[in-house]
Amino acid sequence: MKLKKISDRIYYLPNEEENDRPVLGYIKGDKYSLAIDAGNSSKHVEKFYSELNNLDLKLPDYTVITHWHWDHTFGMHSVEGKTIAGKTTNDKLKEVATWQWSDEDMKNRLEAGEDIEMCDRCIKVEYSNRQEIKVIPADIEFNGSLKIDLGGIHCELIQVEAPHSEDSVLICVPEEKTLFVGDANCEDFYNNNGNYDKDKLESFIALMRKIHFDTYVWGHDEPQTKDEAITYLVDQLEMLK
Ligand SMILES: [Zn+2]
Repeated sequence: MKLKKISDRIYYLPNEEENDRPVLGYIKGDKYSLAIDAGNSSKHVEKFYSELNNLDLKLPDYTVITHWHWDHTFGMHSVEGKTIAGKTTNDKLKEVATWQWSDEDMKNRLEAGEDIEMCDRCIKVEYSNRQEIKVIPADIEFNGSLKIDLGGIHCELIQVEAPHSEDSVLICVPEEKTLFVGDANCEDFYNNNGNYDKDKLESFIALMRKIHFDTYVWGHDEPQTKDEAITYLVDQLEMLK
């Protein structure tokens, strides 16, 4: 999987299905660079960084986390620079950091509904040795929103209660008219059995209409245009009615 270019300033590493690796984003400022999501393991981070090296892009000064799910956060301990997360995400990461990873611990969490089948399966694909799993909270925590000047380009981090998880953070790059949403646009697998909550989906669509962007980068698929993204979400909403 090779790094793909959206513009001179924005790149992403595509997702991988088998082990549930999400898209990793990269924003290149004149002064600082920023990554979106830390991936699901050190190996995932290594792959991302070797792709950045191949294109002479410097390693990120910051890595922003879109939400607490394992595939976006278990690489945090091995990223360069500082990690940034919303407070809700960080609180959850502090809890997940206490989880143990034996077969029995994992089975107990499945039965208690603390974890879900897809993550359980994919974690076992990514980690042949689950002793290597290390979960840490972010270095920098924010509430609401945060604006970062990377030099010649800005990132706006916005905390939202999205359909996918209550701790979603969107990353908007106004100069490049690009919006990173992580999995925010997806169904909720932890609290709603893989379904959309109608009210949350409605307010997410309204938010998408309000934010100015052309390119929509989401967690587990190819980027879309704003129209494609909204059309898909409206179709999903129609099916709930
Ligand atoms: Zn997720």
